[in-house]
Amino acid sequence: MQKYEKLEKIGEGTYGTVFKAKNRETMEIVALKRVRLDDEDEGVPSSALREICLLKELKHRNIVRLYDVLHSDKKLTLVFEHCDQDLKKYFDSLNGDIDPDVVRSFMFQLLRGLAFCHGHNVLHRDLKPQNLLINKNGELKLADFGLARAFGIPVKCYSAEVVTLWYRPPDVLFGAKLYNTAIDMWSAGCIFAELANAGRPLFPGSDVDDQLKRIFKFLGTPTEETWPGHTQLPDYKPFPMYHPTTSLAQVVPKLNTKGKELLQRLLYCNPAFRLSSEESMAHQYFNDLSSSIRNL
Ligand code: ADP
Ligand code: MG
Repeated sequence: MQKYEKLEKIGEGTYGTVFKAKNRETMEIVALKRVRLDDEDEGVPSSALREICLLKELKHRNIVRLYDVLHSDKKLTLVFEHCDQDLKKYFDSLNGDIDPDVVRSFMFQLLRGLAFCHGHNVLHRDLKPQNLLINKNGELKLADFGLARAFGIPVKCYSAEVVTLWYRPPDVLFGAKLYNTAIDMWSAGCIFAELANAGRPLFPGSDVDDQLKRIFKFLGTPTEETWPGHTQLPDYKPFPMYHPTTSLAQVVPKLNTKGKELLQRLLYCNPAFRLSSEESMAHQYFNDLSSSIRNL
């Protein structure tokens, strides 16, 4: 820890506190994340440590680099590449307006980061604007990757704040335990809609029930035909038969036709129907993405 000089606190999230810091030798600015564990006395579980160390190998331009894992005194500090701000703060700085090219660029980079992780069998499981970091030059990077697997899916924040359900797919809300990359594709869809609406969340539910109700009112309540087996999920409970009454055109009016089509294909209640990250990147919506952004 002597190696780093703490500068200021930049965030507080699900697993702990994040500080901006300077490497005393190289003068490089980094982000230090002190991970809080449920049981501090027990120290860091070796399973968690193994998972975390694997993340050091996950090197991609759209993933926040994990430079180092410091483990001493039963404490765990992760040293990350520092970014300018998170997407939530970026939304807060907008005045209800966002350039469609920025939406396309951020969405593409989000999908490219996801494709890389999914290709390495790593799921995010807690994608949300606070976990997407951006730089002034327009880069977007996924943060908080793999931690859910190391420490378990968060149910409450270290800061006693409730974990947001807004980006959780219906399968997870119904208690599915065996999930795959489709969990992240749902969240990506929710974030896509939020980007297109300059920061207005798509399904801002207040609890699990309200979250599912909002989803089903918009997409229609699933049936055994549209989503076989979902009634067998551990926390399944029946909902009224809602039929969609609002169109995507009403929900994301500023998104172009191809964008709406992509969004539709991410937001399926049945996880088997959601597009993968690779398929999404190949979608026509990205046809006119400029090569400068493709190379970001
Ligand atoms: P948690 O796992 O506790 O949610 P995060 O990694 O999401 O922690 O960090 C919490 C907040 O701290 C983020 O939402 C972001 O605002 C800020 N933050 C985290 N990492 C960085 C980083 N590398 N660069 C800049 N800000 C960061
Ligand atoms: Mg976070």
